[in-house]
Amino acid sequence: TEPVLSVQDLRVWYGSERGAVRAVDGVSFDLRPGETLGLVGESGCGKTTLGRGVLGLLPRGAKLDGEVNYGGRNLVTTSRRELQQMRGPELGLIFQEPLTRLNPLLRVSEHFEEALGTHEPDLDKEEIKHRSIEALRAMGIPPTRYRAYPHEFSGGMRQRIMIALALVLRPSFIVADEPTTALDVLVEAQIIRILGDLRRNFDTSLLFITHNLGIVAEACDRVAVMYAGRIVEQGPVTDVFARPQHPYTRELLRSTISLATTGLHYIPGAPPDLIDPPSGCRFHPRCPEAMRMCPQQFPQPVALGPQTVECWLHGPQNLVPEGGQEPLE
Ligand code: SF4
Repeated sequence: TEPVLSVQDLRVWYGSERGAVRAVDGVSFDLRPGETLGLVGESGCGKTTLGRGVLGLLPRGAKLDGEVNYGGRNLVTTSRRELQQMRGPELGLIFQEPLTRLNPLLRVSEHFEEALGTHEPDLDKEEIKHRSIEALRAMGIPPTRYRAYPHEFSGGMRQRIMIALALVLRPSFIVADEPTTALDVLVEAQIIRILGDLRRNFDTSLLFITHNLGIVAEACDRVAVMYAGRIVEQGPVTDVFARPQHPYTRELLRSTISLATTGLHYIPGAPPDLIDPPSGCRFHPRCPEAMRMCPQQFPQPVALGPQTVECWLHGPQNLVPEGGQEPLE
């Protein structure tokens, strides 16, 4: 099947006093109908910027280059106005900090009537009510609260209502950025379940940004591992988790497993400065397997079965100079 979304060589940078911050620096991936791609990596590696960049939701002053192909057009060159019209019915987003808030003067029911009435004018009142209550119920909000006002709910419930509002429109592509971090475990399970239903019933594709590899294992088909603005490894979750090919993926998995058991093992060092990243492979200062050539040349993506990896351990060997495989002192 054709991808719903195809991102090619996407770059996002911001100006700063010290120079350009290259938050996303040449990222490519495809997303097929009904597929969930987990985007993982430490904080500060560019995950959130990538998620927002794909939807054209960057702060003013940010520069965007490359291609985000969706529905026959490149979203990078689509106007802000058009993008705004696509958000909701086509492009969905769930962020930890909702971009819009519930209007305190409107009942919850009125929020749903407005959203569905605008984007699906053929629905009658009963259908709107049915769809809305179903979406709310899936998020654990009882139907009896349908006509309540926002202030009658707790903060966590308001957030769930916002998620129900995003999902009721059944967008074909959703970016969810750490949607479960601020929620309790029960709600987290509900969100994962409802996202699973959406993709089964409506072929919704999802870019799921998280630092929780357990959620990726449970809810995602594919995973992309981001480091310093690049995707250093991507592939089916089962393959990447069983046979991680990039040293950073291995370290990330190792730290997750030991955190769950002993509470220890962090990847030594910190993610690099995106204004002045390390030369060659950006992971080389922290990589336990770095070789002499790693700081010298940027590794190119290599396909290893269903996985794609950017690491000199996997060639292409004909580019490796003599002595290049020797360990770095
Ligand atoms: Fe480590 Fe070299 Fe591979 Fe980078 S290219 S991850 S430094 S082995």
